[in-house]
Amino acid sequence: MKRRSFFKFGMLSALASILKPQSLMGMNYAVSKVDLDPQKPVVISTWSHGLAANEEAWKLLGNSGKALDAVEAGVRHTESDLTNRSVGIGGRPDREGHVTLDACIMDDQSRCGAVAYLEGIKHPISVARAVMERTQHVMLVGRGAKSFAIDCGFEKFKTPIKEVKQDWKEWKKEHKDEFEKPEINHENHDTIGMLAIDENGNISGSCTTSGWAYKLAGRVGDSPIIGAGLFVDNEVGGACATGMGEAIIRIAGSHTVVEFMRQGHSPEMACKLAVERIISKHSDVKGLQCGFIAINKNGQVGGYSVYNGFNYAYKNSKENSQLIDAAFDRKW
Ligand code: ASP
Repeated sequence: MKRRSFFKFGMLSALASILKPQSLMGMNYAVSKVDLDPQKPVVISTWSHGLAANEEAWKLLGNSGKALDAVEAGVRHTESDLTNRSVGIGGRPDREGHVTLDACIMDDQSRCGAVAYLEGIKHPISVARAVMERTQHVMLVGRGAKSFAIDCGFEKFKTPIKEVKQDWKEWKKEHKDEFEKPEINHENHDTIGMLAIDENGNISGSCTTSGWAYKLAGRVGDSPIIGAGLFVDNEVGGACATGMGEAIIRIAGSHTVVEFMRQGHSPEMACKLAVERIISKHSDVKGLQCGFIAINKNGQVGGYSVYNGFNYAYKNSKENSQLIDAAFDRKW
């Protein structure tokens, strides 16, 4: 960042924190302690599966490791958890029974890589990193992504696992109408998005999911889309998203959060403004859950969601990984 714009950013941040108590007295708005407490290194990630993922990331981050390595290692832990039904190889399939995985990664140099609609590979996040590091492309999808992963030597894994296949068969019996709009709820949506700042102040992020359970075949959500599911600008900060991907894509959600931070807003306020943008673009937000988490260049963090119930895991050098309830716009 040029010195001048750095000063501008710093001054606006300071102004934003001074103004906070007066200007942000919305009913559900709560300034979490961590939002006001700059730290380095720090890692945050979406939902309670983030607690264990943060601990994995910390093995690197806490030992002078790079944010990029930490965010890959952290979410790999979640991707290989066979009990997790919304991320990785234990995830639920589309309505035709295929588990299709989406992931992306972005580093402090604005390098990025992504895979979408990837089947039968254990660690989509590492394939996304390989796309970033070994090709001239940003995103590979479907059959091409799988061939690339196999050529690179990534571990294969047969999906869906037995229990998931059984659940899908039951679901199929009750949902014969193939054009029926799938319902979105706590059970069928969750992604792990992770953001880290390392001791050198460099920021990276990762995002990985099995997507919307029982989605239409071919559907890809926000999670592998740079700017929607994840965005990092090392001069400003990073953000990632979870929830209904279609709504997040419509506002280029994570990029929008980072741009709000660039304007001087705190991470939590930037997430709130992006959520409000989503709400303003939809005539009916009933059941439309979306949440963002964000980290800025000082290591301050925040999160915000449309509905209550969204939380994220936080870890720094002083505390064990802890779960923070994100502030929200409305109650279910
Ligand atoms: N955002 C993901 C998707 O739409 C799912 C989720 O986070 O719940 O695929």
